[in-house]
Amino acid sequence: MFNRRLPLLKLLVLPLSSLNKQWKIKSAQSCPPNWQRQVLILASIEIESLNSSGIKGIILDLDNTVISEDDRYLSPGAEAWIQQAKLLGFKFFILSNGKRRYRVKYWSHRLDIQTINPARKPFPVGFRRALAHMQLKPKQVVVIGDSRHTDILGAYFSGCLSIQVASLPHPPRWWEKLAGKWVQMPYPLDGELLAFESEWEV
Ligand SMILES: [Mg+2]
Repeated sequence: MFNRRLPLLKLLVLPLSSLNKQWKIKSAQSCPPNWQRQVLILASIEIESLNSSGIKGIILDLDNTVISEDDRYLSPGAEAWIQQAKLLGFKFFILSNGKRRYRVKYWSHRLDIQTINPARKPFPVGFRRALAHMQLKPKQVVVIGDSRHTDILGAYFSGCLSIQVASLPHPPRWWEKLAGKWVQMPYPLDGELLAFESEWEV
């Protein structure tokens, strides 16, 4: 019985192991020296280091990267950081899997950044559309987000570099209680937070 299933097991396991090897090789080859793959907040990313690495565009996640899912916290310094990067000539695009479309529209308007929602990350279709819109090649773009299974994996599938930020505090979903520690970086308990008063609620 087991012998009969062995070829099937090989078919399933081999592609996964080769993907893992490719991931390691690709990460080691394409990542610029001194590139920080994980940071606490968006505003702690050195814009100059992106510039010197040949990055021209930024695909940004919204939920728990810029604004917490429950609209309580805004990532400290995020808006100023985005404006500064724009002044230096960086192109932006937001890819959000968020289900509340009006909210994504609000942030698209507020930050003056085009968006695709739902982006269905990590599938590469949304990333390809964002790259086409920015008229940039994957190696010229960095994806910044808080979730490995959507933002970071999507960047990998699309050939972009990525930087993971810590997830802004938010009420955990059921799956985050189970698997959140594998795909997200927790926000430090003593980390600076910026309260955000929602402007669209009465
Ligand atoms: Mg997110």
